Amino acid sequence: MDHVTSRPSAPDADRHAWAEPGAEDLGGGLHRIPLPLPGDALKAVNVYAIAGDDGVHLIDAGMALVQARERLTAELGLLGYGLGDIRNFFITHIHQDHYTLAVELRTSLRGQIALGEGERVNMEAIRAVAAGQNEPGFIQMLHGMGADELAEQIRGFMGPRLARPLPRLEWSDPDRWLADGAVLELPSRTLRAIHTPGHTQGHVVFHDDAGAALFAGDHVLPHITPSIGFQPSITRTALHDYLGSLRLMLALPDARLLPAHGPVCESTHDRVNELLAHHETRLEQTLDAASGDQVTAYQAANAIPWTRRQRKFADLDPMSQLLAVGETAAHLEVLVVRGELTRHTSAEGIDTYSLPE
Ligand SMILES: [Zn+2]
Repeated sequence: MDHVTSRPSAPDADRHAWAEPGAEDLGGGLHRIPLPLPGDALKAVNVYAIAGDDGVHLIDAGMALVQARERLTAELGLLGYGLGDIRNFFITHIHQDHYTLAVELRTSLRGQIALGEGERVNMEAIRAVAAGQNEPGFIQMLHGMGADELAEQIRGFMGPRLARPLPRLEWSDPDRWLADGAVLELPSRTLRAIHTPGHTQGHVVFHDDAGAALFAGDHVLPHITPSIGFQPSITRTALHDYLGSLRLMLALPDARLLPAHGPVCESTHDRVNELLAHHETRLEQTLDAASGDQVTAYQAANAIPWTRRQRKFADLDPMSQLLAVGETAAHLEVLVVRGELTRHTSAEGIDTYSLPE
């Protein structure tokens, strides 16, 4: 899924170098293996392999695609392992580019899957969508955001995809639901799962305190701002939660940033501070947009510049508009929590925001 960003960036060639095939040796038996996401603006997802005498442990698994499975097989082979040597899949969150290859591989192999327990609610919501019982929450929510027309457009081209039943296999439960603070003792290092809600409700990062490394999943990404709350089960507080989860990273000692999309960076704290500053700027712009007449999230999104090229909302494609409206609503809700705006919900279920009386 595309992410909306407003950060200036390196030239595109450098920007995507991390996604090129081939493992990167990070030392101490740790390897970054980018797996392809064909047709996705994200290009690739990083799987981190922790290799040892007992086998290999993976942080995130990639997407259940033939190309990804073949790439993983080849790269592990170069490290001297087969897929049968995978002991654990430690998954940062439930999105399909992180979770589904683990489920596919588990059917024939013995690796155990662990996922944050906060994702239970999303697992149920995904199954309801897959079974045709529900529309994804991110489409349902558009009504309350004053974006019925956009919802119709999205239904128009997602409809055929939503109607096709997804393989149930991809959404079977993990072997273990991880509680916040769960300690994972591996022969070569100790990881602690830290609940970092925001990108999804049950997102976790894996912190290696002794090794000064943070397996960040999509919580802290070097090039882009992660989409917030783009999940089947929608919560109003997603951005509020996310900002709290970012500040939580500053309470840990600084660590090498090992993101799921993008290159490895030396400082997690530097990037966290950039992301916090980015959202403060967006909060100011959002407050401006709601400081005149009362606005819906859709109207506010129309008044704010988008992407690092400062594009007009109307020029975005419908899926980007969907993310932009959701992101705007998330910022409006943070302003409500802070007491800078009030929300009014109409009898038709449409939320509008304005300055407090
Ligand atoms: Zn991702």
